Amino acid sequence: MIKLLLLILLFFVGYSFFQALFPTRNKRNRHSRKQPPSGEQMVLDPQCGTYLPLSEALKANIRGEQHYFCSRKCRTLYKKKS
Ligand SMILES: [Zn+2]
Repeated sequence: MIKLLLLILLFFVGYSFFQALFPTRNKRNRHSRKQPPSGEQMVLDPQCGTYLPLSEALKANIRGEQHYFCSRKCRTLYKKKS
């Protein structure tokens, strides 16, 4: 039974190793930062560095400057920092 488990484990390790060496072609290109289909404006969250659509962003006016955040947590952290 243990031998069988080891064989399965070995198979998975070998399989993931093979996948790492030969990535499949239909993999999504992570480098392309595509705009959403609506062509909505993307804004940068200065706290975590994430780009997100303007409609999903949390807006905050800090020291007279408009900032956008992905979450309340980021907004709070950024306010504390500045
Ligand atoms: Zn964030």
